[in-house]
Amino acid sequence: MHEVTAYLIGFGSLLEGDDYQWDGLELAKHNPNGYLMAVVLDQGMKAEKVWAMPNNLFWQWDRMDLIAEADVEDLAKDLKSVGCRYWRNMARFIKQDAQMLMDKYSGWAENIWMDYPTSVQMYERFLEFKGIGQKKASMAVNILVRDCGVPVSDKNGIDVSYDKHIRQVFLRSGLAERDDMNHIIEVAREEYPEYPGILDKPAWYIGRDWCFNKNPDCKNCPLGVSNVCARKTEIVVKGEE
Ligand code: SF4
Repeated sequence: MHEVTAYLIGFGSLLEGDDYQWDGLELAKHNPNGYLMAVVLDQGMKAEKVWAMPNNLFWQWDRMDLIAEADVEDLAKDLKSVGCRYWRNMARFIKQDAQMLMDKYSGWAENIWMDYPTSVQMYERFLEFKGIGQKKASMAVNILVRDCGVPVSDKNGIDVSYDKHIRQVFLRSGLAERDDMNHIIEVAREEYPEYPGILDKPAWYIGRDWCFNKNPDCKNCPLGVSNVCARKTEIVVKGEE
């Protein structure tokens, strides 16, 4: 195991209970349909803003049939009113996803994850929804399993998200060699095969709080303090946070 991995895992264990996705956890536990739709909407906005959207929308989350049948223009207006960045596209996704939720899961998102699936099954179920790709599907599974304690029959199919913060920390620390989705995912799988996604949260935190594009705070970063990072600060990853 790379020493960066060991320190990431150690740092991750200190983060238990410190949840930047707190509102996401609350949604997953108390409004699973809102949780699914917030995952869909999570693009180009701060996590806190996205997780607040289902409550701000005042949609009837226990009536996905109404959302599936709603006029897409009305959905778009609602999404725009709560500050959704890509409200036009998201309105189309939400309508289609509400229909799929009705067709495949009887209108209840918890049916996606409550049958003790394998982690890969859960991930692939999220991927089927419009507007959800690798990054969002992995995030959704990680939050459910890691933070909400949703049982899965294994954890080896839970990957890191191909997220800007995670990519930057993997590359600068020397854990990964190139900014390629398959490579980043593969590195985490090789480093910690039993649960690759364990590296997701600590790498994300370090990316957000210390490993900035400009003037990274290596002096105070956990990987800098422990002197295990290659500090390739000339690498700057582009992309949405
Ligand atoms: S030590 Fe510096 S380069 Fe390495 S992860 Fe921390 S902030 Fe980034």
